[in-house]
Amino acid sequence: MGVPVCVDNDVNVLDLGELRAGIAKGHRNVILVKVGTGIGSGIICDGRLHRGAQGSAGDVGHIQVVGDENVICRCGKTGCLEAVAGGGALGWAGDALAREKVSARLAEQLASRGRIEAADVARAASQGDPHSLELMMRSGRMVGQMLSGLVNFFNPSLVVIGGGVANAGDAYLAAIRGVIYERSMPLATRELAVSLGALGDLAGVHGAAAMVLDELFVPDHFARWFDTRSPATLLASGVMASHSAVA
Ligand SMILES: [Zn+2]
Repeated sequence: MGVPVCVDNDVNVLDLGELRAGIAKGHRNVILVKVGTGIGSGIICDGRLHRGAQGSAGDVGHIQVVGDENVICRCGKTGCLEAVAGGGALGWAGDALAREKVSARLAEQLASRGRIEAADVARAASQGDPHSLELMMRSGRMVGQMLSGLVNFFNPSLVVIGGGVANAGDAYLAAIRGVIYERSMPLATRELAVSLGALGDLAGVHGAAAMVLDELFVPDHFARWFDTRSPATLLASGVMASHSAVA
């Protein structure tokens, strides 16, 4: 690119955005889970993004959940959360309900558009279709099952739910909350909040900007830029942030 480029994955940048400018402001230990086609999480530990030894921290979509151990995931393993509760799984399940004419609303959607995606299931659920609602609640309970383990392990003060599937409405959030509060230890949930993100699609932009500022102005990072070029050159040339979702 000819200029310094900062790259990170979408959930890390979303989490950083909510931490600096959104619902997680003032918190120091936060887990953000993005439920879209895939499922992933960003972890803020003691006020800083935790990436792990190899940068793979938070890859929660491939944690095995109880209930559908035989479903094969795109990673090659079976029973992964993402394979049974992610947007892809919801789309497939909704498509089956439509083709079998179990859900009249989804069958109508299939007839007009030719396919069913997770967003269709989420919309039908928010409009009162009981079959779609059951699919969404099941997904929410499985995400909650995974999160209850994380809450016991990590003791965050806030869990943020984001991503396209999370736009399904309060029932989805309630399903996740219900399992976390039921399955996590009382001390870990005494002050725990479970909320939707505040910034929506802008969280990634805020997070990418925060990431660049961190890279520039945190002293040990700043020294890295100094090694290769003067600050004046750096600022004159501009600094670019990029990640898979924002870019
Ligand atoms: Zn997997």
